[in-house]
Amino acid sequence: MTFLRTLIWFVLAGVAMLAAVWLAERPGNVTVEWHGWRLDTSVGVLLVAIVILILVGVALWLVYRWIMGAPSALIEGWGDSRRRKGYRELTQGLAAVAAGDGVEAQRHARRAEQLLAEPPLTLLLSAQAAQLNGDREAATRAFKAMLEDDEMAFLGLRGLIAQSLREGNQQQALAYAQRAFALRPQTPWVVHSLFDMQAQTGQWKAAQETLETGMRQKVVTADRGRTLRALLLVERSRACESDGNDGQALALAREAFGLAPERIAVASRLAELQIKTADSRRALKTLERAWSLAPHPDLAVLYLKATGESDPLKRVGIVRRLVAQKPDDMESQLALAQAALDAGLWGEARRYLDAAGGSNPSVRVCRLMAEVEERAQSGQAKVHEWLSRAALAPADKAWRCAACGAHHESWRPVCESCGAFGSLHWRAPGTFGQVLPPANGDGARPALGMTTMNTVSGG
Ligand SMILES: [Zn+2]
Repeated sequence: MTFLRTLIWFVLAGVAMLAAVWLAERPGNVTVEWHGWRLDTSVGVLLVAIVILILVGVALWLVYRWIMGAPSALIEGWGDSRRRKGYRELTQGLAAVAAGDGVEAQRHARRAEQLLAEPPLTLLLSAQAAQLNGDREAATRAFKAMLEDDEMAFLGLRGLIAQSLREGNQQQALAYAQRAFALRPQTPWVVHSLFDMQAQTGQWKAAQETLETGMRQKVVTADRGRTLRALLLVERSRACESDGNDGQALALAREAFGLAPERIAVASRLAELQIKTADSRRALKTLERAWSLAPHPDLAVLYLKATGESDPLKRVGIVRRLVAQKPDDMESQLALAQAALDAGLWGEARRYLDAAGGSNPSVRVCRLMAEVEERAQSGQAKVHEWLSRAALAPADKAWRCAACGAHHESWRPVCESCGAFGSLHWRAPGTFGQVLPPANGDGARPALGMTTMNTVSGG
């Protein structure tokens, strides 16, 4: 390009030189007379004067154009810098949010709002800044304003759900979660939090529908969905029973057992109803199968109840039949020890407890040993020895929440500590691997209920 331009200049300069030479070779004079004025000059000078006049004219035209166009160009430039400043404020505000500096964030949010005139963009920052400052009203106002904008509505709902949960208003949180679910049923946190809230408020059927949508959208794995569905059916079965509909309750329990026979709560529900409807034969089968998958003291109690046997010695034989499904399990040894103790068979009880305890007997084993020694009248020294061992012994299996690790005295569908559904398992402590603390700082229920569907299954 530069070469071409240079060439053009050379050509122009050449032409100008040729013209000058041509004019010089043809000298001539020009005389102008006008109203008593007289001008004598050469043709060359006149031509140069004409060229200068044209150049001055062009320059004047350019100055005129610049002056006329200036205001709009200025305004445009000013608007540009205003927007730039606005975005800078927005960026700095978001950085302040990330750094947890609420006051700074709010200052930037206010300035960005003035500069940008684009509410959806600045609303999120304002809401987060207000949240950081603990200004719930301002945060709620900003999140609600986001609902007006199609693009931001979903984000606004997320904020409002968290806000309602923090305020302990579960009904409102549930209503917002339903709206969010209607907008985007494929988003994992929406499915999870709606499911948790429905389960926490005992809306078992609605929770089941949410779960099924979640499974269709691949938000919940098939295996996790299967167990959760079984546990929901158990709760629906309980509800039917308290409505006096035993037939429907039994049908639901049977369906649950078909899905997850390895869950103790599922097996006990079915066995309970089978005993209640005088179908002991089936109850025994249910419990034997359940024992082979996951032994638990409650199952042994139900097994004895199903047989209706009251003679203590015969009851030992019955328990032996049940634990034959899994003879080496610690629960099997403990069930036999308990039956032997009830029948006054001290030697046998000690033998089972020794087998259950091994080299490091647990609290339950030590306490049962103390009971055996007391009832066998072996002397207070022996009883005390076992009781003091119990104080230092390793903890037993218990109902522990896989989501938060909380310990519960008995099975319940929703963890009382973190609100997760179906997260209780009959486990020894420290067998869940990593236990995550609740997501929000308040230590109460998780802000957006990500617990239930992500917790460990089985057990
Ligand atoms: Zn929990």
